[in-house]
Amino acid sequence: MDKILIIEDEPGLQLALKDRLTEEGYDVEIEGNGLRGEKIALESRFDLLILDVMLPDRDGFQICRNLRDKGITLPILMLTARNTAIDTVLGLQFGADDYLGKPFDFPVLLARIAALLRRSRQHNSHGSDRIRILFSEYTLDREARILTGREGNVDLSNRLYGLLEFFILRHDQILSRKIILNEVWGYGSDISSRTVDVHVAWLREKLKEQKHPRHLITLRGKGYKFILNPENQGER
Ligand code: CA
Repeated sequence: MDKILIIEDEPGLQLALKDRLTEEGYDVEIEGNGLRGEKIALESRFDLLILDVMLPDRDGFQICRNLRDKGITLPILMLTARNTAIDTVLGLQFGADDYLGKPFDFPVLLARIAALLRRSRQHNSHGSDRIRILFSEYTLDREARILTGREGNVDLSNRLYGLLEFFILRHDQILSRKIILNEVWGYGSDISSRTVDVHVAWLREKLKEQKHPRHLITLRGKGYKFILNPENQGER
């Protein structure tokens, strides 16, 4: 689960961000004070920082610069009402990775977050995986973290996307619920394997195969298998 730290002092926005990002499957921590936020960012490991500019005690630009000076490399998305070109330049100069002006649309924020996380993961891994994977009428774009079908983009939560990508990257292998839980929800998560079944059902619905699964096959007593090209599998 990706951990996101949000340093933002506006209570309404704090609540909205926390709710929406948690819903998307992120592990969210919020701090409203600049000085304390910087301390948290230095002391704990996060995958992404969402950083407001106008904050009590210490402004976002300063925090950004201090973190970079101390060698903290996590992706930083700056969020602010000050949305002039000069502020953008300043933010990026101080080491921010992206910049979003308030008010913003949540889908835009979510797409930016996903892109930043994807980029940082690619940077940290070998980067040899394919970006686009085609199956049936679908295209999975792993950079944009988007699934596209005949009727356009398929609306997937962050968790469902992660599950689908996991299945696709391990297509045609038998995957037990335990492996899926460990890899998608994280080791040591105390979630029941029933959660996997529920998410698989949702994913089948998104792929319009809840009645007759073509791709996401249940193997009784074993788990699941994702078949990339059902046409080549012959009769099941
Ligand atoms: Ca503020």
